[in-house]
Amino acid sequence: MRRSSYRSISSLQRDNRVCRACVEAGYPLESLPVTAPYTGQRAYILGQSPGVVEGAERRPWRGRAGRTLRRWLGMEEDDFYATFYCASVTRCYPGRARSGRGDRTPTPREQELCAFWREWELRLLTPELIVPVGGLAITRLLGSSPLASCVGRTYTEGDAIVVPLPHPSGASSWLNDPANRARIGQATAHIRRELGRFEVVSK
Ligand code: SF4
Repeated sequence: MRRSSYRSISSLQRDNRVCRACVEAGYPLESLPVTAPYTGQRAYILGQSPGVVEGAERRPWRGRAGRTLRRWLGMEEDDFYATFYCASVTRCYPGRARSGRGDRTPTPREQELCAFWREWELRLLTPELIVPVGGLAITRLLGSSPLASCVGRTYTEGDAIVVPLPHPSGASSWLNDPANRARIGQATAHIRRELGRFEVVSK
């Protein structure tokens, strides 16, 4: 179902929503792809992969992690989805980890298979702000970088500003350290500043 190239985000999304590349490669996915409609968002948020709630609803950031993320950003749901085009490193619920602790981390092969969709999205959307959320998304965009050294900083990727955030799932004790919470505050201040720039430019 993949074309060799795309000229519009709507045709890309139509194909992405029926993608079964990982299943055909033998991976046990537990949902269909999760995508959100494009409504002109100028910022792009990249998570790891959908959770069970998102997989069932086929809409990103619907569960507890999404609520925490919106609290960090100081945004209500409508504002959040109108501001951010929501994508993830892989787009189907990967199921529970064998250990029973949390969800399965997508394998490098699944990440590679799904990178196709992200690369075309970024080419078509040319977002001005990109927010990778969690270690896996940060690594895919910026290369391997410990959370403590990149959260609170800004990067550039082409014409976009990149502002990393940790994953808000609560599974990591990283969030409990007051120094790390201060880093999240710095990161969200950067995000608000960049979003404020959009409003100034649009007026
Ligand atoms: S995770 Fe990505 S590449 Fe794999 S089946 Fe889902 S949409 Fe397709």
